[in-house]
Amino acid sequence: MTVDTRTTALQDLYQEWERTGVSPFFPVIESNDGNLVATDRYPALTMFGSCDYLGLSQNPVLKEAAIDAVRRYGTNTYGAQLLCGHTRLHHDVEATLRAMSPLDSAILFPSGMAANLAVITAMASKDDVIINDRTDHVSIFMGSQLSGAEVRTFPHNNMAKLESLLQRSDDKRRRIVIVDGLYSADGDFAPLDQIAALADRYDARIVVDEAHSFGVVGPNGLGVAEYYGVLDRVDAVVATMSKALGSTGGFVLTNAELERQLRYMAPSYTSSRGSAPAAAGATLASLRLLAESGADLRRRLDANVQLVLTGLRAAGVDLMNTRSHIVPVLVRDEDKTVAVANWLMERGVFTATFVYPHVPQNTGRLRIGITAGHTTEECERLVALIVEASREFSF
Ligand code: PMP
Repeated sequence: MTVDTRTTALQDLYQEWERTGVSPFFPVIESNDGNLVATDRYPALTMFGSCDYLGLSQNPVLKEAAIDAVRRYGTNTYGAQLLCGHTRLHHDVEATLRAMSPLDSAILFPSGMAANLAVITAMASKDDVIINDRTDHVSIFMGSQLSGAEVRTFPHNNMAKLESLLQRSDDKRRRIVIVDGLYSADGDFAPLDQIAALADRYDARIVVDEAHSFGVVGPNGLGVAEYYGVLDRVDAVVATMSKALGSTGGFVLTNAELERQLRYMAPSYTSSRGSAPAAAGATLASLRLLAESGADLRRRLDANVQLVLTGLRAAGVDLMNTRSHIVPVLVRDEDKTVAVANWLMERGVFTATFVYPHVPQNTGRLRIGITAGHTTEECERLVALIVEASREFSF
């Protein structure tokens, strides 16, 4: 995959949906009330398109912590982090993340995207090879291109192909395998147990993006690498606060040497504003809440996920290979995917519409994000509506 924002065929497709008034993209959110959102087009939609997997973005404890941070520090930090630092809240978030994980260091970034760019460009350069799963997040491909390393890709979760790429790269100074822990549009895991074994055999480094799994997957919610028991084999974990943690900002867990390199040299750390104090305050509250009641929230989420997966699979709806709170409902044709998204909104349910180029052509899907905050009734209604849509639209 290369990153190209200039393709005009693509712009035509999206413009046509806008012109005919059916575009489900860029809804303007007028207000939020728990799981209900009012948009510029619909007064009350149950939100099933978010990444707020633990339902924390609407939690009163996080809201109060954000407000308190604004009272103490104002609405912004003073300048670039290298020069003007960050607040005590940011400092405490780093310390809390460090204490939670077996890796030595934690470092905060303005976003998960900034974190991926920083880590990959710090670890790789022209004498190295980066080996990416083809379904990796676009920020991984951007960082890989920017690093100047040779970039190779393997078909999604294809370990035989990964092994052959590793075998054929022993002339390189470093081999770096980069995967998402949990794939954001497919809902399945990277087989990190097998990837760790291959990395041992071929002396490769591993970076894992746990954006969609941090807080949710693994015995302590540290992600898919923890789930497979290989966190100590990973060189860097990249994640974001913008999903299960209910805030914004990115972070990296890594070794002390790479942390130092990032802190002094990575442009998206040194020369970009850190997250706002309100976000750091909300994140700190979120991490404390996870320490107290993360296991309960994860149990609640799992019950909702099982309800939705069982109900939809029993009705024959194609959910790809998901095993998680990310539930792709495969519709395939792009226009039909947009039509189903609108049909659901007319019935009060918001899902995220994923079409080309964000997923491969003719694999359009509605991406449902189940959360611990959804009620059983909301999940049952979602299942009933999607089953009805699958008959109405034949997918
Ligand atoms: N990695 C993955 C896998 C993601 O899905 C995202 C966000 N969609 C990011 C990184 C970027 O995170 P952020 O929104 O904090 O920039």
